Order: sequence, then C-alpha cells, then structure tokens
Amino acid sequence: MERVKILTIEHLTHDVLKIVTEKPATLSYHPGQAVDISINKPKWEQELRAFTFTSLPADKHLEFTIKTYPSHNGVTQQLLLLNKGDELLVHDVFGDIAYKGEGIFIAGGAGVTPFIAILKQLEKENKIGNNKLIFANKTASDIILGDKFRQLLGNNFINILSDEKIANFEHGYISADLIKQKITEHTQYFYLCGPEPMMQAVERHLSSLGITDSFIVKEAF
Ligand SMILES: Cc1cc2nc3c(=O)[nH]c(=O)nc-3n(C[C@H](O)[C@H](O)[C@H](O)COP(=O)(O)OP(=O)(O)OC[C@H]3O[C@@H](n4cnc5c(N)ncnc54)[C@H](O)[C@@H]3O)c2cc1C
Repeated sequence: MERVKILTIEHLTHDVLKIVTEKPATLSYHPGQAVDISINKPKWEQELRAFTFTSLPADKHLEFTIKTYPSHNGVTQQLLLLNKGDELLVHDVFGDIAYKGEGIFIAGGAGVTPFIAILKQLEKENKIGNNKLIFANKTASDIILGDKFRQLLGNNFINILSDEKIANFEHGYISADLIKQKITEHTQYFYLCGPEPMMQAVERHLSSLGITDSFIVKEAF
C-alpha cells in the first residue's frame, strides 16, 4: 500500500471527478486496469473501492475519473470533500480489461473509464484505426469526455441516451440491432464495461448475434 497526495481535483461533469495524484515509483499497470483506493482519513483507510487508471502507464502522475454517489454515504461521497494536498491510499492493481485488437467498445456511464485509458494509449501509438465506442448514458449531461471521444473517433463515437431525446443521438437502451449496425469487417472484439444489468443485456445481444465469449472482453462495475 502506498500513500499519494492529490495534485488536482476537478469536476468533469455534474457528478464525475477527475483526480490527479502522485505516482508511487514502483507502481505499474496496463491501460484498462484498476486499483483499490481508500482515503487516508480516520475511519476511511479500510474502505477500499476499485477505480480505473485513466492516466497512461508512462505518465508521471496517476489520474482517476470517478462518478460520485452522494446518496450512498460511501467513499465517492467523501471524495467530493477532498482538496489538493489530501491523501489517498493506493492498494492492489487488478482488472480483466486489456486491448486485444480492433472492435467495438460498449460502455455504460462510468464504465467508460477503462476505455478512456485504452483509447488514449491507442491515440499515442497512432492506432485508433476503426475502433468504435457505443456510450450509454441517461442524459447528455452525463457523458464523460464527449469532446475527446468525438475528436478521437469522429463518427465511430456513438451516443445512446435512455432519458433524453436529442438529434443525432440514439435513444433508449443498447439493442442487438444497434450493435449489429455498427459491426464491420474490422470488428473483431467486443469490449464491455458498465453496471451489471446493462452488461447482462448486452451479453444477451452479443450472443443473439452469434458472438462467442472468446471475442468478448468485459468487466462489471
Ligand atoms: C474493476 C472496477 C473498476 C472501477 N473503476 C471505476 C472508475 O474508474 N470510476 C468510477 O466512477 N467507478 C469505478 N468503479 C465503480 C466504483 O468502484 C464504485 O462506484 C464505488 O465503489 C462506489 O463507492 P461508494 O463507496 O461511493 O458507494 P457504494 O460502495 O456503492 O455504497 C456505499 C454504501 O451506500 C449504500 N448504498 C449502495 N447503493 C445505494 C443506493 N443505490 N442508494 C442508496 N444507498 C446505497 C450501501 O449501504 C453501501 O454500503 C469500478 C469498479 C470496478 C469493480
């Protein structure tokens, strides 16, 4: 376990924080992985929660992109009270998501965080290629880093909103038909990350499209 100071803490959306911290010298990870974090304050050191690195392994600092739930009275509510100079405790690194090849990234809400890291790494290596991102949110105000994804992916960035109807955005929940429309000869892998009910629905859709598990890379949040 390592102690790191918060260098910057800011809002990316109404409920999502970007937190940049010091990086322990010995820490290593790959894009898509997460780490257990706790807050270095009395009564909070033992409350571990998983957060994905949205920085890249070669970066000098760590960055996290964290959706906060003030009503849970949990760790993310406490994160909202932190300032520059406060400390986090960084525990074990883990995570099942890693880039294997071109495909479609399918994210719900904060489930986009592993794909932020992977797409930033691909951008750095000039390998964005034909990758696509289908990003499901409740409303447009919930979209994390929309401008960045638009710049990286252009028309291969597909937004779907369940609670809001907006021109050029899909409306409703991710369907088998929407996924099918986006599949091309370049689509090899399907990367899934989001809340459990969304994951279950998308896995059913993929199965109905004849996609086998060996082409699905996933992690539930
Ligand atoms: C591998 C992995 C990587 C992750 N990476 C990220 C990431 O990069 N960014 C991100 O934003 N999230 C990420 N998550 C999700 C993140 O870990 C959780 O959102 C976070 O743990 C929530 O912590 P919390 O203490 O605020 O709330 P919780 O632990 O969900 O809740 C705290 C307490 O609130 C109560 N509670 C729970 N649900 C409700 C509810 N609906 N209403 C009222 N009270 C409730 C319960 O008593 C609970 O004990 C990741 C998860 C995994 C597994």
